[in-house]
Amino acid sequence: MTEPAIELRGISKAFGPVQANRDIDLKVMPGTIHGIIGENGAGKSTLMSILYGFYKADRGTILIKGRETAIPDSQAAIAAGIGMVFQHFKLVQNFTVLENVVLGAEEGAMLRPSLAKARRLLRELADEYELEVDPDETVENLSVGHQQRVEILKALYRQADILILDEPTGVLTPAEADHLFRILRGLRDEGKTIILITHKLREIMDVTDTVSVMRRGEMLDTVGTADTSPEDLAERMVGRKVLLRVDKRPASPGAPVLEVEGLRVVDADGVERLRGIDLQVRAGEILGVAGVAGNGQSALLEVLGGISKATGTVRVNGEGIDLSGTRSDGRTRRARGIAHVPEDRHRLGLILDFAAWENTAFGYHDKAPYSSGAMMDHKAMREDTAAKMERFDVRPPDPNLPAKSFSGGNQQKIVLAREIERNPDLLLIGQPTRGVDIGAIEFIHQRIVELRDAGKAILLVSVELDEIMSLSDRIAVMFDGRIMGERLPAETSEGELGLLMAGMDGAAEGAPAPKAGDPPGTGADPLAEGAA
Ligand code: ADP
Ligand code: MG
Repeated sequence: MTEPAIELRGISKAFGPVQANRDIDLKVMPGTIHGIIGENGAGKSTLMSILYGFYKADRGTILIKGRETAIPDSQAAIAAGIGMVFQHFKLVQNFTVLENVVLGAEEGAMLRPSLAKARRLLRELADEYELEVDPDETVENLSVGHQQRVEILKALYRQADILILDEPTGVLTPAEADHLFRILRGLRDEGKTIILITHKLREIMDVTDTVSVMRRGEMLDTVGTADTSPEDLAERMVGRKVLLRVDKRPASPGAPVLEVEGLRVVDADGVERLRGIDLQVRAGEILGVAGVAGNGQSALLEVLGGISKATGTVRVNGEGIDLSGTRSDGRTRRARGIAHVPEDRHRLGLILDFAAWENTAFGYHDKAPYSSGAMMDHKAMREDTAAKMERFDVRPPDPNLPAKSFSGGNQQKIVLAREIERNPDLLLIGQPTRGVDIGAIEFIHQRIVELRDAGKAILLVSVELDEIMSLSDRIAVMFDGRIMGERLPAETSEGELGLLMAGMDGAAEGAPAPKAGDPPGTGADPLAEGAA
């Protein structure tokens, strides 16, 4: 019988009152890709940090290849053959690839000879595992996907035969993620052991051999990937049945609610964030804006939400809105029927030290039912918030708790409850389910579709392509401050959207669709379109 590459026995770890890991047993077999899945806060990163020597477990033992091994720090982890690929890369930006790979691994002061040796080794590794990167390129000039390859090379250079990747695809385009998975399969086939942490069911199904499910600090089950399904895994993660597909009827769009023409934004550093955006969202439809983070989607939402300034034209219900970005603009926007669920809810959506009821009333405190003339009615605010919290399944439904004491998913529900229950004509919504658990995702998606079905216009920005594909009635893809193209969900593929997200015109691959740069609404008729 083969020995596990890693065996954990009874690992526990608490942070104050939070039991992040509770009595965890796990066996990871050599030469396999072993997925660990679980909702936010399930304890995945904590467990891996213990394995990599960042945290010390309160209890429990670690066995590497059958031998009990203490891992007090990352040196010990490296010595035990464990490599970690971080979500936020720890590369030195102005060093070359080669320098980054040998950094911290060179023998004594003899850097020169080891550089020549490293270059050779790097070539071999690159050839063997599709890890090609130019050794002499400066890291800051590399795409995120290539930087990740450097992280992997770094671990392999240190002779890791167990590789841990914690949520590695969050920053990648679909094509980059596919490439990463090819690399991982190659490494596995050479006998390396891979631990892949992710909350994405599809990735687990695509690439892993075995999957372990964590929930609330505990290790629930370990199953063969071939013996499970996304639905089954979701149910294990959440503890109840979850609807993975958005249940929605075809849209029946009405008149344009939002019209954007020639929108340009230059940021404080003189960088052009939006380079002439044209788009339209009609009543009763969801326009999804896809793109890799940092391609102008955030700037678009902030301008429309009145947080930053821009030039160009924006009309809501046919009437122009002010783009000067002055502070009072959030209020003006609300008066015009625009609601905004910002991407960065900690910075823009909530005041964390304020109670839920204060946050719910935030921005609306001077209107009925919260106010009659000069007096704000705190009791009405509390009661109204409690009712909203019930309806939006916020847990716990206590309006007096400060916003910071809710989990990320529940904070998001508080912001959504506030914005959606205003019954806006136009909802701007950024990353609606970032940091949100699968069970709450289902709920949030249903509320968004309901608002659409009530005839409202929704502009959805998300870096999750699955979310864009399943919610949108039309999809616009942004790249480098421009809209690369618009597609209908039923007539496109993740592959085609991925090309557009990478700045390539994906027209060759897909069905006839509007070309990049065409004004919205000139392509196929969205009315003829069934929901994906
Ligand atoms: P996951 O990676 O599955 O999302 P984590 O391991 O990051 O989960 O977190 C598990 C729990 O431990 C969460 O409740 C989190 O808030 C808590 N936690 C994680 N790291 C720390 C820390 N350094 N200090 C305090 N609490 C932490
Ligand atoms: Mg984590």
